[in-house]
Amino acid sequence: MVDEGAHYAAWMDDCLFCRIVAGEVPATAVLETDRTLAFRDIAPVAPVHVVVVPKDHHRDIGALVSADPALAAELLAAACDVARAEGLVGYRLVTNTGADGGQTVDHVHVHVLGGRPMTWPPG
Ligand code: 5GP
Ligand code: ZN
Repeated sequence: MVDEGAHYAAWMDDCLFCRIVAGEVPATAVLETDRTLAFRDIAPVAPVHVVVVPKDHHRDIGALVSADPALAAELLAAACDVARAEGLVGYRLVTNTGADGGQTVDHVHVHVLGGRPMTWPPG
């Protein structure tokens, strides 16, 4: 019988954002709720660039919405709270999903981007 708990624990050990949530990798936190954490991106692409994650591990936004839609709503609310706390009037929320979507860390996250005019279409 497969020990799902052990598999999950091993996977989380490998996940950068799980390690940030656990405090094992340092990050500059800007907002924390019971189930979410927001921290500054290490390679900002805008004057304000914050990454918001659920503390629970979910691969991407589709997996999160399926598994825990209430947490998906909390994640979006936290992203908007970050924008407000950072004093942004206009801003962009981005959730890259899968390789073609440009996702490089497989723990769902919302980028909060602002502090400069955004262009469209994105690259
Ligand atoms: P993605 O490419 O998956 O949409 O976003 C991942 C983001 O995580 C990137 O913007 C990248 O700069 C950021 N990132 C990667 N490694 C670290 C890290 O160790 N600390 C922080 N704060 N951000 C990171
Ligand atoms: Zn994770």
